[in-house]
Amino acid sequence: MTDSPPRQGRQLRRAADLDHLPIEPDARARDAAAAAAFAVRAPRRYLDLIDWADERDPIRRQVIPTAEELVHDPREREDPIGDAAHSPVPRLTHRYPDRVLLYPTYQCAVYCRHCFRKESLDDHGRYDEAALEPALAYIAAHPEVCEVILTGGDPLILADGRLEALRRRIDAISHVRMLRVHTRIPVVNPTRVGPGLVAALRGRAMVALVTHFNHVREITGECEAAARLLREAGFLLFNQTVLLRGVNDTADELRALFRELVYRLGIRPYYLHHCDQTRGLTHFRTTLDHGQALMRSLRGHVSGLCVPQYVLDLPGGDGKVPVGPSHAEARRGFDWTFTTWDGRAHRYSEVIAENPPGDDTEP
Ligand SMILES: *Cc1c(COP(=O)(O)O)cnc(C)c1O
Ligand code: SF4
Repeated sequence: MTDSPPRQGRQLRRAADLDHLPIEPDARARDAAAAAAFAVRAPRRYLDLIDWADERDPIRRQVIPTAEELVHDPREREDPIGDAAHSPVPRLTHRYPDRVLLYPTYQCAVYCRHCFRKESLDDHGRYDEAALEPALAYIAAHPEVCEVILTGGDPLILADGRLEALRRRIDAISHVRMLRVHTRIPVVNPTRVGPGLVAALRGRAMVALVTHFNHVREITGECEAAARLLREAGFLLFNQTVLLRGVNDTADELRALFRELVYRLGIRPYYLHHCDQTRGLTHFRTTLDHGQALMRSLRGHVSGLCVPQYVLDLPGGDGKVPVGPSHAEARRGFDWTFTTWDGRAHRYSEVIAENPPGDDTEP
């Protein structure tokens, strides 16, 4: 593939490595305390996408620490979406009836400055297969669980052999029908995706990979090759994007991202997440009004395949809610007013039987 920029230097594995990156000395000094506060990491090929002449580069803002992260609004939370409140056994969250989150690792290939779990990540932990036993026993004992979502951390930093062993354990629980993996590896380290990874994941259960692309400039020829391999393996591919101020909060950026995901990578935009109330993310958060305006700029203007659902994960563990925007502006009885994709009011009256069989107001 030809569109990778020239190599500029080393990878980033610890705060001291920031000294070797082309960061302005005054910015490095200003942001030093933030660099020490949370884990720092990015693979070289991801760093190579940064335009260092632009301090507000959207890729730089996702991985290079800034002093703004230490600004804590007292209304923000350590466990913003209540994962701990719904954790019946270690390393598992069970909030919805039929699916669970399973955390095989708390390490990632990249530590995102906007991560909503940044306070539970652990860069030094080692993979401990035995630590997953209570979670696997819990899943086996709950026949209503038909989907296991590997998250973390990034499950795909595990070696193929370990992933395969874990996948076999999950496949052996016959009521589990879907193995879903939430990962940034295809974004930040796409050459990790190879035939060995495909073989490790492919088994009895349906497999879905959910990537986390936030900006169109993250999409490279290497990502394209990784996505092709995963598609040809028969895995379902989806993407979740976090709406981030100064990274991707314009209509042009989101349209370009979602179109390239679909047309170049064959990955369906699934969720656009409103930025969670994690401590230290105030500088990344937009208003819900702004997010809704961005969603209006997508509907009808780009293919419906390129329009994700805009969701908010309610603080405290109450789960995700779609946050619109609603195109139903008003109603009186069975008469509605909708806003069309291009902003006109359209009156619509429901045509229904005079004497409906039973109560048709309930689904
Ligand atoms: C987000 C989340 C899921 C997955 O939700 P979907 O709407 O199925 O993508 C499952 N469990 C928990 C605890 C979650 O936070
Ligand atoms: S890869 Fe995911 S879990 Fe890891 S830091 Fe980024 S957002 Fe958080």
